Amino acid sequence: MTKILKKPAVFFDTFQRKPDDNKQTTHYCPGCGHGILSKIIAEAIDELNIQDSTILVGPVGCGVFVYYYFNVAAVSSAHGRASAVATGVSRANPNGVTIAYQGDGDLAAIGTSNAIHAANRGENMIVFFVNNNVYGMTGGQLAPTSIVGQKTTTSPYGRSLRNDGPPLRMSEIIATLEAPVLVARMAVNSPKNVRNARKLIRRGLEAQVNKKGYVFLEVLSQCPTNWRKTPVDACKWIDEEVTPIFPIGVFKDTIDQAEPQPRDLSRPDFSEVIESLGLKAEEPCPAEDRPLPYPVVRLKSAGFGGQGVLSLGTILASAVMKKGLEVTWLPSYGPEMRGGVANCSVVISKEPISSPIVDQPNILIAMNKPSMQRFAPLVPKDGLILYNSSMIDTIPASLAAPVIPVPAADIAQKAGNVKAANVVILGVLLAKTGLLSFEEMSVSLQETFTNPKLCEINQRALQLGFDAAN
Ligand code: SF4
Repeated sequence: MTKILKKPAVFFDTFQRKPDDNKQTTHYCPGCGHGILSKIIAEAIDELNIQDSTILVGPVGCGVFVYYYFNVAAVSSAHGRASAVATGVSRANPNGVTIAYQGDGDLAAIGTSNAIHAANRGENMIVFFVNNNVYGMTGGQLAPTSIVGQKTTTSPYGRSLRNDGPPLRMSEIIATLEAPVLVARMAVNSPKNVRNARKLIRRGLEAQVNKKGYVFLEVLSQCPTNWRKTPVDACKWIDEEVTPIFPIGVFKDTIDQAEPQPRDLSRPDFSEVIESLGLKAEEPCPAEDRPLPYPVVRLKSAGFGGQGVLSLGTILASAVMKKGLEVTWLPSYGPEMRGGVANCSVVISKEPISSPIVDQPNILIAMNKPSMQRFAPLVPKDGLILYNSSMIDTIPASLAAPVIPVPAADIAQKAGNVKAANVVILGVLLAKTGLLSFEEMSVSLQETFTNPKLCEINQRALQLGFDAAN
């Protein structure tokens, strides 16, 4: 009887990453090994009925979008940090099944230390290490796993033993450690290898269900795009060129002898820790019953790097924290710093805050034009937009929220330094929302700026901003 190939139930019905007319396919290139591996992992999750307890930690690299495909709990991690993030996930969820999915640039270059230490600690997790001998997502640069002679965009004459050293064999390295219970290398380039991979993946996941400890599965995966080969030739290349350097096989398997090693979730008593360090615990600050302009204040402060948008957030966050309110501060750096918008999110509430992320701010402070263009349309009609009219001459049309121009840089100049424009706008914010009183913020500024001259300028800026709003 012909077996009908079905999409594993753990995959989402449609993959939201793709445009509307093409939500059934993944973002992977035709012939890529990632898709095959994803399917085998998904099938094993289905078979073991662990969808509800699985937590997947994604990497940076071609595998970055795994969360678009697997309908399980998922966390994204910074480049190379999946094993570290998975450590936290695994320890915080001792009954879950933690999967880290990483490529060779991610795990064997920037993340080597994270990966090796997680393995050495024997964390309860399974790590899929996708080895395609190249940095895939960024255009095919030399990876630690590129084979000698392999031409890449950064090794046009081929990998040189003398310049680059031999390829890094992660499975062999990790198999020398005491803690891992299963270390194996497999491939997804042929039906026989896929069958073998399926067995190992199931065994590794079962070990996670039984809390047997750390499992490392390296997967030789074809990257036709960056190898500049057809999918068929890419599969052949693994057999002919890659497996002689990276032999397929099981390097260590002690699952049957390993005892389950559940992790203890108990936490130390905080006051005992403080006492043992010889520190004096601060009295918890009782929350004052003060009105807030919104039940949960979601503030976005945005502008160019150097305009003090992040420090505006920290000044405000520390001031409200001293009043016993719950608060989070989350900066956003990265590519946005290169000529675009740096921003921070501040969430303030009387109740514990579930997420520090602000997608839809109810207060926006826009210090430059790109931040106004980007965030102002997100503010709802009961929100508030304050913008630095010294730098922003036009604002987006049809904004829902009231908009207040503040010539913050000009006012700051009068206060003694244009860099205090952020504090000017903070003064306007307090006057318009009553979030804190002028006196409360003034005390907080004195604690923030220990340099008397700077403190004086910022106090003046706060006063001028406060007065300008009234
Ligand atoms: S670049 Fe290579 S590894 Fe990345 S999706 Fe395409 S084929 Fe796969």
